Amino acid sequence: MERPTGLTEPGGEARAERARPGRAWTRFAPAPTGYLHLGHVANAIYAWGMAASSGARVLLRIEDHDRERSRAAYADAILDDLAWLGFVPDGGPVHQRESPAPYVAAVDRLRGAGLVYACDCTRSTLATWAAAHGHPWRGPGCPGGCRERALADDPSLTLRVALGAGEESWEDRLLGPRSGAVTVAGDLPIRDRAGNWTYALCVVVDDLRQGIDLVIRGEDLAEATPAQIRLGRLLGRSQPPAFAHHPLIRKSNGAKLSKADGDTGVRELRAAGRSAEAVIGEAVAEVGLLPEPRAMTAAEVGQLFTGMSG
Ligand SMILES: [Zn+2]
Repeated sequence: MERPTGLTEPGGEARAERARPGRAWTRFAPAPTGYLHLGHVANAIYAWGMAASSGARVLLRIEDHDRERSRAAYADAILDDLAWLGFVPDGGPVHQRESPAPYVAAVDRLRGAGLVYACDCTRSTLATWAAAHGHPWRGPGCPGGCRERALADDPSLTLRVALGAGEESWEDRLLGPRSGAVTVAGDLPIRDRAGNWTYALCVVVDDLRQGIDLVIRGEDLAEATPAQIRLGRLLGRSQPPAFAHHPLIRKSNGAKLSKADGDTGVRELRAAGRSAEAVIGEAVAEVGLLPEPRAMTAAEVGQLFTGMSG
């Protein structure tokens, strides 16, 4: 397969710069659309802990692809809170917004393969479809059949990539063997209606070009993994990264923590006089790594993963 310009083999230049035989890279990749909360702390515990126990390194990536929702002040606060917690990255921070060329190159490559199409389905189209069929769209393409309609590319339309059919499987370091349909939520959007490159595109392009070998993230993203593995293949990544999907911290009603839950914000916990060790210890217990909270430093979280391969 022909190599795209601006997009290189797993790792590319960034990898060549940092390459040390036998030392894998994982990443911690918050979006600066809010402050860090206990859910991010849990993700950091898994990222730094699994990296420490396996000799891997952690790249800090600020996922600021959404220009409307990202704020420099949030990015600064994330760096400050992370330093306060004691989690020190081995590379970065790298900001998605500073180098858009790789996303453009990736889309050009997909376009060259005839896989990109404009989609005018709106939330209300999707809602109407879901109401008529009793379930959300789960299949190839999009509910409006936009690929067949061959709409002209208009900046106000979503761009999607045709993922093709079938399943992708992976050996999850935490969940075990997993597989799933690549179009469980239709074809992936790669550019939104506001003109932003999407999370799905940026995460796959960045994990490829930055040489990320191990993706550690919350289990709510496991369903999106087959589509992301497939998109990586379409971009020339023959060997997908390894994945580890970890438990999420839930509110007492079972819902996922969000930025709106101020009582679990690292800022608030700091202001209330909690120590970094206590905050880490609370997150460790919340995700079930230990039965009870136990204060520990960021440097100690690797102990929670000893004996775990890779
Ligand atoms: Zn559509």
